Amino acid sequence: MSIVSTCGPDVPAKVFARPRSWQQALRDAVRSPDQLCDVLQLPADLRAAARRGATQFPVFAPWEFLARIRPADPTDPLLRQILPVAAEDLAEPGFATDPVGDLPALAAPALLHKYSGRALLVATGACAVHCRYCFRRHYPYHEAASHGTAWQPAIDCLAQSPDIEEIILSGGDPLTLTDERLGLLADRLAAIPHLRRLRIHTRLPVMIPQRVGTPLLDWLCGTRLTPWVVVHINHPQEIDRPVSDSLARLVDRGIPVLNQSVLLRGINDSAEVLADLSRQLVDRRIIPYYLHQLDRVAGAHHFEVPVERGVELVEQLTRQLPGYAVPRYVQERPGEPSKVSLV
Ligand SMILES: *Cc1c(COP(=O)(O)O)cnc(C)c1O
Ligand code: SF4
Repeated sequence: MSIVSTCGPDVPAKVFARPRSWQQALRDAVRSPDQLCDVLQLPADLRAAARRGATQFPVFAPWEFLARIRPADPTDPLLRQILPVAAEDLAEPGFATDPVGDLPALAAPALLHKYSGRALLVATGACAVHCRYCFRRHYPYHEAASHGTAWQPAIDCLAQSPDIEEIILSGGDPLTLTDERLGLLADRLAAIPHLRRLRIHTRLPVMIPQRVGTPLLDWLCGTRLTPWVVVHINHPQEIDRPVSDSLARLVDRGIPVLNQSVLLRGINDSAEVLADLSRQLVDRRIIPYYLHQLDRVAGAHHFEVPVERGVELVEQLTRQLPGYAVPRYVQERPGEPSKVSLV
């Protein structure tokens, strides 16, 4: 499906120009709730709530992702991930701004050390998309490092922590940074002798598939550290041809690719959708890793699926699919030594 044929003449022609660099795709991304409603021909009554929600957590979506959304359909499973809705305004008891206990886990500025053997570097606050359910929608990113020099305390802390063998680059989305900076960061990490693996948590291969190019593959495969990539796909409709190709470029270079999803009401809370997603992934040599119970972040309660329903869905997957195609259904709980299995 192409958005080109469905948009009115008010959509600037340049946004469809291809190919364009990933940096240009980030610059061109839709940031205005009105533009989102116009381009996707949404009913007028959604507009006021979209504007209100955007003041809490701005709209941000690249055209490459919008092209996979059915126009004029407020129930589209991709649209629901990015469109602010009225339910975000309602305060709900139990939904907080730091639901996963990230802030107490800071070992150094931007370095989260919650779990044994691995630490997570908040490499940047920027993302290639703003997911409305994101547990980091309230994260104080301005306190996180975003410049090379600001990574120094985290790197020093890693160097002094011989028990850490895996470093996870997360954020935000680390692949919004340039390959030049990431390559330099990878070099500094590789110089820490006890680090063995470099894991990247990213939505870029899905949001802006042209991000996966030779420069990225070269630094990722050129480091002493074993690279792992974890992408984030919630619904099979997110995988179009360019996404499929970007994932293949990673796997073809020998990089193990895992997927994590969030269980989201009205998006993927059905056995059919989840089974289809798992099949699409394993057909592409990608392992479904985690299915996350929603973190109880303020403004996202309308996405919550009851745990009993989640367990039922995963049991249905287990009956239909090979074991390696069934993701682990987990929840993050503050103070626990790992993600907690719900099955
Ligand atoms: C989820 C997470 C990890 C990685 O956990 P795995 O179970 O190894 O995937 C590491 N650090 C933090 C802070 C996390 O939230
Ligand atoms: S951190 Fe991940 S889930 Fe959150 S907004 Fe960014 S891409 Fe989406």
